[in-house]
This record gives sequence, structure tokens and C-alpha cells, in this order.
Amino acid sequence: MKIIMLGAPGAGKGTQAEKICEKYKLIHISTGDIFRENIKNNTELGKLAKGYMDAGELVPDEVVIDLVVDRITKKDCEDGFVLDGFPRTIPQAESFDEALAKSDMKIDYAINVEVADEVIINRISGRRACPKCSAIYHTEFNPPKVEGVCDNDGAEIIQRNDDKPETVLNRLKVYHEQTQPLIDYYENKDCLRTVDGSKSTSEVFDKIVNILG
Ligand code: AMP
Repeated sequence: MKIIMLGAPGAGKGTQAEKICEKYKLIHISTGDIFRENIKNNTELGKLAKGYMDAGELVPDEVVIDLVVDRITKKDCEDGFVLDGFPRTIPQAESFDEALAKSDMKIDYAINVEVADEVIINRISGRRACPKCSAIYHTEFNPPKVEGVCDNDGAEIIQRNDDKPETVLNRLKVYHEQTQPLIDYYENKDCLRTVDGSKSTSEVFDKIVNILG
């Protein structure tokens, strides 16, 4: 199964993508995580991506497209994958479809996790991440067992630069302008399924399982 997660930053795409991958044994590909890993390791890709990310802007299409096409053609993706954070623009979606078609593949489902902007702002302001394993917490809705410390590895959890309030507003603007048009794009391809992302994590997941079967 080949799945795309659509939705604004903070809609819960990453959390749902992880749960889907666990249940259906698929590979989770988060472009945001790939960039953050590269920033941590100070690679050329990381240096290029950092400025865009900190400003809440998108990394240029050609950089992201090559990265994802390269990743999904690896052997471990043969049985399927869940893309989390890609595509984010129409040109990314079109180039990706072309690349998939060359290998006789196509997307089965684009799951649109729908959440109102006010809820997003509230969620992101409390979001914290582990810099070591990328686990996501929320100060109010999903706190770690010990305050300020990751449950998995004990690292001090942090607020991502791009989760700071001034950047979040720009990310939402970028989402509405550049990513939201993908909803119609996948609707036209008959693979769009929309779920109400304002519900609890498990309720949203149940709806997704109903869709995927
Ligand atoms: P995310 O963790 O998915 O919210 O991504 C964090 C940041 O990484 C975004 O705000 C962008 O700067 C960059 N990024 C991730 N995926 C993409 C993409 N498909 N196209 C362009 N930039 C991206």
C-alpha cells in the first residue's frame, strides 16, 4: 500500500503515519525528519534546508523530489510506504506521479487530516520534540512521563525552531497557499479520503483503519 498523508502542520499526520506503519508494516518517510536529521549531522543538505525551515518556508521542489524518489526506490519500500510531509506543492505531486508511473506504481490513498487553524495554533504552541529520536510530545495533551525529558531515551525535549509562534503563522500561510491545492489534485485522482483530525489520536486512527481496511 502506498499512502500520502495530507494536512496542515500540527494536524497529526506524523503521529497517524507512525501508527499506520506499525499496523500495516509499511515504511514511514517523513521529509521533515530527513531534513532535521541532516541538520543535526551538519550535511550539505541540512545546511541548505535549515534557512527555509527556520523561516517556515518550503525547501525548493527539486531538492525534495529527488530525495523522495531516491528513497522510495530503495528495497525496503517495495511493500509500501507512508509519505508524511510530501508532496507539499502541485509540482512535487506531478513530478512524483511521473516517477511512480515509470516504475508502474501509483498512490492508493491520500489521507487528508483536517483540522481548523485555531486548533493547529493551540497544538503547535505546546508541541515538544526529542532531538535524539524525534518523538513528539505535547505539554498539555501528551506530556512525557517525566517533565521535559523524552520517555524513550531521556534526552531533554525541545521546542522546534519552526514551532515558535511567529513561524507557525507563516507555515499555515504556506500550507493554505501551496499545499491545500493538493486536496483537489488527489480528489481528481479518486484516492482522497478525509478524516476529522480534531478528534483524539485513537479516534482518528480508527477512522483511517476503516478506510484502509
Ligand atoms: P514537517 O516536519 O513535515 O512539518 O517539515 C518541517 C519543514 O521541513 C517544513 O516547514 C519545510 O521547511 C521542510 N519540508 C518538509 N517537507 C517538505 C516538502 N515536501 N517540501 C518542501 N519543504 C519541506
